Amino acid sequence: MRVAILGAGPSGFYAAEHLFKQKDLVIEVDMYDRLPTPFGLVRGGVAPDHPKIKSVTKVYDRIASNPRVRFFGNIEMGADITVESLRDYYHQILYATGTQTGRTMNIPGEELEGSHSATDFVAWYNGHPDYRDLEFDLSVECAAVVGMGNVALDVARILSRTPEELGTTDIADHALEVLAESKIKEVYILGRRGPVQAKYTPKEVKELGELADAEIVVRPEEVFELDPISQEELETAPDRATQRNVEIVQEFARREPSGKSRKLHLRFLVSPVELIGDDDGKVAAIRVVKNKLRKTDSGGSRPQATDEYEELPVGLVFSAVGYQGVPLLGVPYREDWGIIPNVKGRVVTDPESERRVVGEYVTGWIKRGPSGVIGTNKADSVETVECMLEDLAMGLYLGPSKPEADAVEEMFVNCKPTRFSWEDWQRVDEVETTKGERQGRPRVKFTSVDDMLDAREDS
Ligand code: NAP
Repeated sequence: MRVAILGAGPSGFYAAEHLFKQKDLVIEVDMYDRLPTPFGLVRGGVAPDHPKIKSVTKVYDRIASNPRVRFFGNIEMGADITVESLRDYYHQILYATGTQTGRTMNIPGEELEGSHSATDFVAWYNGHPDYRDLEFDLSVECAAVVGMGNVALDVARILSRTPEELGTTDIADHALEVLAESKIKEVYILGRRGPVQAKYTPKEVKELGELADAEIVVRPEEVFELDPISQEELETAPDRATQRNVEIVQEFARREPSGKSRKLHLRFLVSPVELIGDDDGKVAAIRVVKNKLRKTDSGGSRPQATDEYEELPVGLVFSAVGYQGVPLLGVPYREDWGIIPNVKGRVVTDPESERRVVGEYVTGWIKRGPSGVIGTNKADSVETVECMLEDLAMGLYLGPSKPEADAVEEMFVNCKPTRFSWEDWQRVDEVETTKGERQGRPRVKFTSVDDMLDAREDS
């Protein structure tokens, strides 16, 4: 059986791994990626100061070393090949394309200069080729990051680190240069609910209190006086993480000022309502409303605006309110959920009718939405692959007219000579890591596809 996996990120690799575990089946996998480089969010999303998380790529290297997997990098669906034509080459197609864009806050002023999606900033500092030319004006003194998830914390932390702290990471050189000149003194992280409902994880929030030259500031009244809804949620929380999150921010609130040059404010129960611009159309302030919590019918909690407003004089705003998917031409898509509709990974035309698209599957964030850590994708991909195997056993798969492995290779030789193989990526990887070693960094990233193509030719 020949399988095309679209997207060479974590969920794609975990799916390939589980496919190869089937001892009684000969399965060949072609992994496609829009970029010449593999690893998806591990390369383009994980914060540069979190190198341990990135070491998971060793597992993916091992999976890629299987002779039954081929990498087709620098191949863009829609532009270089259509999903429709892939159906001529494969028995099954697995979409593992992730969620590439940021959700918007939908408030007035969001279009002002200085208002950005956190996902753009993350892709920029991680050297994603599509984002390298973005500009972020860090000559302002105050910035706000909206959202209380780990992405918000990543962005706030990168804004608050010293050039020395960043200088030992694999952050893109262009970002290092701009961040080294940053004039930012205050960063506000704004959560619309309380410390009990924050989406970040304990390790990540604790790290905010350990930065070299930025001190964490938490208002005691926002973290000690829990409302009854929060109190109940804390007492019934399924694990210790919520308790730890609260303990950590309470410890922050007890801290005395340390005199560090930057301040990182964690603010709870405030929602952005408007970005206020100056005469030049640049962000000059963010207007927030104080919230209280109300219980939902399903037992959760939602923020409810009060009539108390506040203006924070910030010149930069990053909205870190979640990622969402991008539709693929010819593949069903649920605009409102930002995912490919599916039942346990089997693509359906819409979730209500559960009408199957035979031979097509989905895994990772584009299957379930942007949640969980990298490892969460493993179980997710196993679930999808089990469905693929069940269907295969029942004879439910595509009927490709050109199922030979060479056929697709030949097609690309003619129409996309710049396609990257795994060996091409390994050459680029070696150049990046060798450069990095000389500078005491894990790697110095190429941030343009042309430079990667040159590096492939040179080495
Ligand atoms: P997230 O964890 O879902 O957090 C999104 C945040 O945005 C929540 O605090 C949410 O508040 C808030 N929000 C949503 N809509 C809003 C609005 N209109 N106004 C104000 N706030 C709003 O998403 P994420 O931070 O993008 O992270 C995505 C996934 O990647 C998560 O599973 C995360 O843990 C993971 N990740 C992990 C790491 C790591 O392990 N180090 C690093 C980065 C990302 P509500 O809770 O009230 O909805």
